Amino acid sequence: MKIVILLGAPGSGKGTVAARLTAGDAALRHVSSGDLLRDAVRRRTSAGVEAEGYMKSGALVPDKIIAQMVGDLIAGLDAGETVLLDGFPRNTDQAATLDVTLAGCGGEISAVVQLEVPDEVIVERIAGRRSCPKCGAGYHVSFLPPKQEGVCDACGAELVTRKDDNPETVKNRLAVYREQTFPLVAFYGARDLVRKVDGLGYPDEVAERVRKVLP
Ligand code: ADP
Ligand code: ZN
Repeated sequence: MKIVILLGAPGSGKGTVAARLTAGDAALRHVSSGDLLRDAVRRRTSAGVEAEGYMKSGALVPDKIIAQMVGDLIAGLDAGETVLLDGFPRNTDQAATLDVTLAGCGGEISAVVQLEVPDEVIVERIAGRRSCPKCGAGYHVSFLPPKQEGVCDACGAELVTRKDDNPETVKNRLAVYREQTFPLVAFYGARDLVRKVDGLGYPDEVAERVRKVLP
């Protein structure tokens, strides 16, 4: 199993890029830690109930909760699959746990894609972000509007603004990214795995840039 880690600030477009890349490629699988957690919160699992408060404030949920979720999922995939890992790892402890998980299943990190987007753009993107609570599709009121306002193109559900997309929480999430997640650039840089990609522009353009650096 090959793992491609998508690294970038909240709102940098990791999920949007992943959705585009996986759409035309059955051997590529998108695994989003945020989607896994939001699903657990919705289903009121014990992990979801524990995670909810952290997510609302923009903090990271405890490593053991998310590492277990992602680890279980990866362990159940076929050896031939390539995984686009979005939102995990988010700190160096999680990165170390991922190494252990992969050693156990013969998986390997083949690239770390670093999506670069300036903070001002991030704030604007998140302010207009809408998402589908049913299928997880992402939209933006001006940059990527659905065909019918407020309705998911893919499944027809009513779009929502995520609870953690308010300005105060976004500030926290950006700070957490800078302090805890950004150091992963150096962590994986030391293994020569990091590919920097300009995250500005239309989703299709950014996805194309990412496709070009994939192994
Ligand atoms: P974004 O990348 O836009 O911040 P995500 O959907 O990836 O959004 O994550 C939303 C929230 O879920 C995070 O703010 C955090 O609370 C939690 N979360 C997601 N992934 C992790 C992780 N690997 N470790 C800890 N918390 C996580
Ligand atoms: Zn939908």
